[in-house]
Amino acid sequence: MPIYEYQCKDCGEEFERLMPLSSPTAPDCPKCSGRNVKKKISRPASGKSGCGSCSSTSCSSCSTTRHS
Ligand SMILES: [Zn+2]
Repeated sequence: MPIYEYQCKDCGEEFERLMPLSSPTAPDCPKCSGRNVKKKISRPASGKSGCGSCSSTSCSSCSTTRHS
């Protein structure tokens, strides 16, 4: 699953969530529980399941170790 960055437009809190690709809704703000949350960017979950150079979670080398 990719990590998405969100920012709450009510309190300005920025946070990250692992969300399914098909998730239709943004999460609630963890700080004020507001629903006025905007998605900022998406990126591969590098360091966890991808390495950034292949951006594939099925890469056999980066699924176990990071390579640069
Ligand atoms: Zn908030």
